[in-house]
Amino acid sequence: MIRAVLVGAAGRMGRAITVAAQSEGGLRFTGAVDAARSAALGTDLGVHAGLAPLGVSIGSELAPLLPCADVVMDFSQPAVVGETLGRCAAARVPLLVGTTGLGTEQLLAAEQAARSIAVLIAPNTSLGVTLLLELVRRAAAALPTDYDIEIFEAHHREKKDAPSGTALALGRAAAQGRGRDFDDVAVRSRSGSGPRQPGEIGFAVQRAGDIVGEHSVTFAAAGERLVLGHVATDRAVFARGALAAARWLAGRHAGRYTMADVLSS
Ligand code: NAD
Repeated sequence: MIRAVLVGAAGRMGRAITVAAQSEGGLRFTGAVDAARSAALGTDLGVHAGLAPLGVSIGSELAPLLPCADVVMDFSQPAVVGETLGRCAAARVPLLVGTTGLGTEQLLAAEQAARSIAVLIAPNTSLGVTLLLELVRRAAAALPTDYDIEIFEAHHREKKDAPSGTALALGRAAAQGRGRDFDDVAVRSRSGSGPRQPGEIGFAVQRAGDIVGEHSVTFAAAGERLVLGHVATDRAVFARGALAAARWLAGRHAGRYTMADVLSS
């Protein structure tokens, strides 16, 4: 039985992961962390997720929980991730980072932590998106460069980062397929920006209602469009992928990993 600690335990993903872990088995929570100001502090993790009590109280300190953990899952906020990385590296506990919107600071901290622990950064833990990334890379490599690449994503009204971590990962996969540097070709938003420049990878974002997550990548040339896409209708799909990644990470040696590593094994 793998022992896991959940950071961001009181959030939407925290609840979905708690529920999925109960129905799947093979992993049990030995600790749960949320923000010091969270109204959920002191609540039982299971009760907060609408289940029977699990005997794990949601607290605000990660470090004391790490001696009893085989793996940590972070689904919180970008500003939290640096501290999670540092604490997991110090305690030698592998870490799954599902939190999106990471900046340069967090990515550098991940590189550093990955020297001593296994770190898997997954902006999207679903099986479908993991496969979609590979399909997009291949399509971008196979199609001539006059096929314009545009990425669309839609999420619920509460989502904080934009474009989504998944949309950016899809853009990186497309740029990689074309042998281009992502930062040279990415146009993250358009507003009165004039005609499209050759080679650009453009992003469009929708925020509305309770949309769980939709992504599409369009390759468009004169006379045809190829559209590769993914629609998530239930957060459980991310939760199940997160649990598969956590089980895979426990006991894994130090290094940086992706969901593709989980899928390919
Ligand atoms: P949410 O806002 O519902 O939950 C985030 C939780 O983190 C909240 O309970 C918040 O109180 C908590 N938090 C804030 N500061 C904290 C701190 N210092 N320590 C511990 N917890 C803290 O958001 P959500 O929809 O659950 O999404 C969480 C993250 O996961 C986002 O970055 C989102 O984009 C990402 N996400 C990833 C995937 C994936 O497949 N990887 C899927 C969905 C969402």
